[in-house]
Amino acid sequence: MVIVHTGDGKGKTTAALGLAMRAVGHGMKVIMLQFLKGKWKTGERKAAEKLAPLFEIRPLGRGFTWESENIAQDIEAARKAWEESRKIVLAGEYDVVILDEINYVVGYGFLPVEEVLALIREKPPAMHLVLTGRRAHPKLIEAADLVTEMVAVKHPFQKGIKGQRGIEF
Ligand code: ATP
Ligand code: MG
Repeated sequence: MVIVHTGDGKGKTTAALGLAMRAVGHGMKVIMLQFLKGKWKTGERKAAEKLAPLFEIRPLGRGFTWESENIAQDIEAARKAWEESRKIVLAGEYDVVILDEINYVVGYGFLPVEEVLALIREKPPAMHLVLTGRRAHPKLIEAADLVTEMVAVKHPFQKGIKGQRGIEF
């Protein structure tokens, strides 16, 4: 299965983590590869350590953030992150691979969508691939078996409420 979680509403990464928990329960090996580098040691990273070796969350390379100043450096970082992801997918050691926030990387033009489509074709047939992030490329939506779009109905950020521990991180 190729699964896409997209849309502006909250829940894309959370849904991928829920799916990971379900798969790990069945003894499946899961890895979440993070294309955007988080600031903190998130709850999910701490939880993943408790589920090792079945579940791993791996920030890729140097990663990059929204507060980026150097585009060339970002493209280079995205490139390296992508090469690492490709290797992991093609090595076939995992039952589920989550490419968290990859849609941003494609959306910003840091990674050609054709490369992601090629990897979808080349991946081991039994491996499930999950792609998250806002504004998924139409070609990825087309290639996927399952696409869910999160719709933002209400978010506490609109009231100026900051990210809550256990909810946002
Ligand atoms: P989560 O990781 O909570 O499942 P997400 O993966 O759907 O969220 P991202 O686009 O990755 O959302 O954004 C990450 C951060 O932005 C999270 O802290 C999330 O709470 C916040 N966020 C998500 N949707 C919204 C929204 N509609 N308005 C404001 N903040 C949002
Ligand atoms: Mg997310």
